[in-house]
Amino acid sequence: NADAALYRAKEAGRNNYQFYSAEIHRSTIRKLELESRLERALDEGQFRLFVQLQMGQENISGAEVLLRWQLPDGTLVMPSEFIPLLEQSPLIKSVEFWVIEEACRQLVDWRELGIMTRTSVNLSALTLMSPQLPEFIGRLLEKHSLSADLLELEITERILLGDTNKARDVLLTLKNMGLNIALDDFGTGYSSLGYLLEFDTIDTLKLDCSFIWKMEETPRNRAILEAVVRLAHSLNMRIIAEGVETPRQLELLRELSCSAYQGYLFSRPVPIEHWQQIYQQWSDCGSYEKRVGCS
Ligand code: C2E
Ligand code: MG
Ligand code: MG
Ligand code: MG
Repeated sequence: NADAALYRAKEAGRNNYQFYSAEIHRSTIRKLELESRLERALDEGQFRLFVQLQMGQENISGAEVLLRWQLPDGTLVMPSEFIPLLEQSPLIKSVEFWVIEEACRQLVDWRELGIMTRTSVNLSALTLMSPQLPEFIGRLLEKHSLSADLLELEITERILLGDTNKARDVLLTLKNMGLNIALDDFGTGYSSLGYLLEFDTIDTLKLDCSFIWKMEETPRNRAILEAVVRLAHSLNMRIIAEGVETPRQLELLRELSCSAYQGYLFSRPVPIEHWQQIYQQWSDCGSYEKRVGCS
C-alpha cells in the first residue's frame, strides 16, 4: 500500500523520487481497479468467509469469521486491502449483512454436525449504526431457531468515539436481544480504558496482537498488559488474546488467565468449509500441550 511504498522509498534514499512516484502510481491504479470491481463483487458471489479458532483453557471457545474477496482469477484479496475501500461506501452494509446471514447459516449446519460454537463477526460503523441491523439479526435468529448468545459482534473503539450516544443506544438494543459485544483491537487506539469501560454493554475485550507481541520486550509492557487484564476481569469481562504465535506467549498469557486465545499457534484462519476439521482436531486433543503431544 501507499504507506509501505513511502516507507520503502525513504529507505531507498531521498533522491529516489521516481521510484516512489511509480510505486504510488501503481498502488493508486490498483485501488481504482479494486474499487470498480468491488461494486459487483457481492452480486457476483466473490466474497468468501474464513474462520479462526478461539481456544479457552481446555476447550474451543469460539470462531471468528473473517472476510476474503476472491477475484475471478482465484487471487484472494485480504481485508486490509478492500475493507477500507468498502467502508467509504454504503456497500459495506450489504456486505456485512451478507456476512451475518452466512454466519447464521453456518451455525445451522454446525448445529447439525455437533460442532457449533460461539461465532463472531466484525462490523464497521455504518453497519452497526444501520437502523435495520437489530431487526435483521432478530429475524435471522428466529428463522433458524438460534440462540442470540451464539453470535458475537466485534466492533472497534473508533465506532464508540464517533456518535457516542447513538453507539450506546444501539449496543444496548443488541445487548438486550442477548447478543455478545466484543471490543476488537484493544490497545491500538488512544482512548482511555476508563472511558471505554463506561460502555457496560461490552462483554469481551480482544487484546490486539501488538500488545501480545510486545509483552516480552520490557517489564513495563508486561505490567500494562497485566493491569488491563486485571481490570477487565474485575469488571467480569471476557478477555481474548489475539495474535498468539509462540508457546511462550501462551504461557505468559495463561498466568494472567485470559478467557480465550486466538492465533497462529492454534490455527490460521481457514476457509469456513474446513471448520469441521479444525473443530475435531482441537476438541479431540483439548489443550495446546495435549495437541502437541498428539501430533
Ligand atoms: P481482526 O478482527 O483483529 O482479526 C484478526 C486478524 O489477525 C486476522 O487478519 C487474522 O488473520 C490475524 N491474526 C490472527 N492470529 C494471528 C497471529 O497469530 N499472527 C498474525 N500475524 N496475525 C494473526 P485478517 O483476516 O487479515 O483480517 C484483518 C482485519 O480485517 C480484521 O482484524 C478485521 O478488523 C477486518 N475484517 C475482516 N473481516 C471483516 C468484516 O467482515 N468486516 C469488517 N468491518 N472488518 C473485517
Ligand atoms: Mg475481529
Ligand atoms: Mg483484532
Ligand atoms: Mg479488527
